[in-house]
Amino acid sequence: MTRLALFDIDGTILRDDGVAREAYGIALRETYGHERSLRPYDFSGLTDPQITHIVLGDAGYPADEVESKLAELWDVYLREMRARVSAARIRLMPGVVELLELLMNDERVVLGLLTGNIEPGARIKLGAHELNGYFPFGAFGSDSAVRTELPPIATRRAVERTGERIAREDVVIIGDSIYDVRCAVPHGAISIAVPTGPTAAEALLAEGPTHFFETLEPCPEVLNAILGR
Ligand SMILES: [Mg+2]
Repeated sequence: MTRLALFDIDGTILRDDGVAREAYGIALRETYGHERSLRPYDFSGLTDPQITHIVLGDAGYPADEVESKLAELWDVYLREMRARVSAARIRLMPGVVELLELLMNDERVVLGLLTGNIEPGARIKLGAHELNGYFPFGAFGSDSAVRTELPPIATRRAVERTGERIAREDVVIIGDSIYDVRCAVPHGAISIAVPTGPTAAEALLAEGPTHFFETLEPCPEVLNAILGR
């Protein structure tokens, strides 16, 4: 039996100090002329294209105009991210690196990403602390704007890379938002929720995740939840 452990990034592996919002705000202004504050928004668990449609839709931009300039938006966003992101601006969540190290060296586990970030943005964030090596593949906001569509994409890539058979009940989705928990449900996947992002524990528990832990510090309970023992 092989377990596929799919990690969310923001609020699960790391939190930035607002650097991604800065870069994204500049990109919205430069690409669409959007000047409104992003402060009212909670983007947790949403995909980058979904966020863009919500923010620009609220400001009255038609969906086809939003869609037509997305490539340009990502170019500016990535340029600004590369210029701004450093290890000092990105904080790792407790125990996550220790957990990743254990899982990477465990032959029963395949590691991947499941994140709303477009892939190059995800790579910049993880690269600040040299974590990309843990995640040779994943499913990203650049694959689909709809998070629920991402688990089968990640699973297909895992199978292509490893040649392992991965049953749907051996897919483990680990994240800090209600959308991480929800995207596991239609695929029969296991969900592990952690309140290390902006979402309160009560809100996560109300979604009925398979497992809930205060942090991802690799205690026996966390390891058992991922390894299925
Ligand atoms: Mg998150």
